[in-house]
Amino acid sequence: MIKLKNINKKFNKNHVLKGIDLDVEKGDVLVIVGPSGSGKTTLLRCINYLERPDEGSISIEGFTVEGKYPSKRDVLELRRKTAMVFQNYNLFKNKTVLENVMEGLIVAKKMPKKEAREISASLLEKVGLAEKVDEFPSQLSGGQQQRVGIARALALNPSVILFDEPTSALDPEMVGEVLAIIKQIANEGITMVVVTHEIDFAREVANRVVFMDGGHIIEQGTPEEVLIHPKHERTQRFLKRLV
Ligand code: ATP
Repeated sequence: MIKLKNINKKFNKNHVLKGIDLDVEKGDVLVIVGPSGSGKTTLLRCINYLERPDEGSISIEGFTVEGKYPSKRDVLELRRKTAMVFQNYNLFKNKTVLENVMEGLIVAKKMPKKEAREISASLLEKVGLAEKVDEFPSQLSGGQQQRVGIARALALNPSVILFDEPTSALDPEMVGEVLAIIKQIANEGITMVVVTHEIDFAREVANRVVFMDGGHIIEQGTPEEVLIHPKHERTQRFLKRLV
């Protein structure tokens, strides 16, 4: 469903992604792990062209965008197939929780307000925030704000949700509640690609794990293959450091 071919990305002389090929199947919960600076977030952001690769192509459901200078229209079309959950939530501070979720439906999907309100309210209920709909993001905990971010992504009904270290800005006591919601929606069969440092989460929720190091995919497979019986010495070293 998603096909990345020969993705290369440099920031000046720093060659961050070195010819990445990756396939994501419909319904996959693909978790990308690896040391800091290995290129995980950059790879995730290339999938929706928030970062433009210098070389390579991204296809989502047969729609392909290629190279460093694609047309704006193509990038928008690709982006419409995705939704992203950011590390720092990226909510509109001057809009209520409900309005934050409604925004994408009204602006991107041109949905009438009443329908957008109903869908948004039911998604906020799903992430356990029915009582917070009229509050502003600043009145919410980090974990609650991230759950709004997840409801907002779900509202767009995308082909894939991209999670960029969704719990790394949270206080430790809030990590669990956000991972539980992600796990719940993973179980519903929504395709997702998750960059995270939460190895236990990867073990428990992923059906595929990709280990990256130095801009390369070093190995990929089931959580058992990659995280319990890794073949590559670099993966073994990375996992040992976490124990
Ligand atoms: P972490 O786990 O620490 O978030 P990561 O594996 O997600 O790391 P990236 O954030 O993709 O790694 O960064 C990979 C490399 O690219 C790093 O050396 C980083 O400094 C560099 N980099 C990332 N974004 C930019 C940018 N916008 N401009 C310049 N360099 C960047």
